[in-house]
Amino acid sequence: MQEKINKLIRPEIRALSAYHVPEAGNMIKLDAMENPWSWPDELRDAWLEILKSAEINRYPDPAARTLQSDMRRAMEVPEAAGVILGNGSDELIQMIIQAVASPGRVVLAPVPGFVMYRQIAVVAGVEFEAVPLQDDFSLNQEALLAAVKARNPAVTFLAYPNNPTGNLFDADILHALLSCADGLVVIDEAYAPFTDASFMSRVGDYDNLLVLRTLSKMGLAGLRLGLLAGPPAWLEQIDKTRLPYNISVINQLTGSFALQHTDYFMRQAQEIRSQRAQLFSGLQALSSLTVYPSEANFILFRTPAGKATDIFEGLKAAGILIKNLDGSVAALQDCLRVTVGTPDENATFLAALAPLLAT
Ligand code: PMP
Repeated sequence: MQEKINKLIRPEIRALSAYHVPEAGNMIKLDAMENPWSWPDELRDAWLEILKSAEINRYPDPAARTLQSDMRRAMEVPEAAGVILGNGSDELIQMIIQAVASPGRVVLAPVPGFVMYRQIAVVAGVEFEAVPLQDDFSLNQEALLAAVKARNPAVTFLAYPNNPTGNLFDADILHALLSCADGLVVIDEAYAPFTDASFMSRVGDYDNLLVLRTLSKMGLAGLRLGLLAGPPAWLEQIDKTRLPYNISVINQLTGSFALQHTDYFMRQAQEIRSQRAQLFSGLQALSSLTVYPSEANFILFRTPAGKATDIFEGLKAAGILIKNLDGSVAALQDCLRVTVGTPDENATFLAALAPLLAT
């Protein structure tokens, strides 16, 4: 069988690893940038009441029109912009790359960055060009623009704020990129609820700007709903790569219901922002760590050399799951990433971390 696999599966796919999600069991889960609070009973009951009306024997509205207009409003999408909804923003990244994929095409993104840009590009048979970030994880304008000029990428992805580093790139550099890139520039605002910065109001100002959003980080990671905004002529083409009915009846009803309660989620995002400041100070107080500023709902920190995996395992043994980035890319050597949790979870994490640094 291996022979057949080698013959049929492209070598670059054989060389990939599937996106790995560790089993969290009963651990405190601070690894995946989820909202730590589950819904209160009255919200859950009202939602279940709405689901009773779901016509589950019918296909969903293929354009998800009601949900689309609810998401446009919640995300302040400019009136003249087009939108496409995806089963998570991952699916929209896939659609964008599929729409441009052809031999010799390049997808470009800064590294360290969100790993799915590379993964999806490679699966689509498109070359991935990594532009290294500087030591403080900021963009090097000269290097970025030189790479764009040299490789002429069909799409450049920038997560704003960036995952897994948490910082916001300099907006002036992004404007310079938008002005000089021939290809599409996707500004991925997955962490929008935790920052005031956004390019959404600029959609339409550049003919190559697309903005990506998700409901995952706000509190609906289990639902899988993302939104792509951009010039209608581009989206008309990208929409051809979408599978019919990609947003289920349940997702359409649940998304619209949740967006009637944006105040509830926005209050939680505010609480996460203030918890982030506390967690940042708590980490900084542990003097052997280098802690990177974050505009997202997670914090990246660097441990003393060679200690990251021991600390990660020590936290796991204490019932806390975070993300070990040591060994992923060179710039993240000795780095760990923790998602901002509830005040109790953050305190438990800091209390478990301190003695692990002493050993
Ligand atoms: N973009 C970025 C920058 C992310 O970090 C993530 C998730 N970690 C996604 C997109 C995908 O999110 P989802 O598919 O849940 O919308």
